[in-house]
Amino acid sequence: MARKTQASRYDKLRQRLRAEEGQLQHEIERLRAEAPALAEERKGAGFSTHMAEDAWGSYEREHGLGLEERLSALLAEVRHTLEKFERGTYGICDSCGKEIPFPRLEARPQANLCLECQAKKERAGRP
Ligand SMILES: [Zn+2]
Repeated sequence: MARKTQASRYDKLRQRLRAEEGQLQHEIERLRAEAPALAEERKGAGFSTHMAEDAWGSYEREHGLGLEERLSALLAEVRHTLEKFERGTYGICDSCGKEIPFPRLEARPQANLCLECQAKKERAGRP
């Protein structure tokens, strides 16, 4: 009985992740569709080829690529989490194998680490 309750709680999170996966995919496709058009506009605006490339390069860094990379990273995270559902390991920390507390999953369904491991990872990632 308890297991059943747990499964349906997780089901809601899975639905949220599925919706997020679709949304991210859509956003990434939209960005990719827009990027070449913007590059063309800039070429036609009277820049020399070299300058246009420079301008486009910095535009990419500021708006296009950075955002696309962030969205792709999020999408990869969401997909990894959905795979955990397939394997029946959802809600288990990738690093230490402990159960991730439900309130944390509810706040962030794509959490793959428990708070302890997340904190460790963030400390390690800091310069
Ligand atoms: Zn952990």
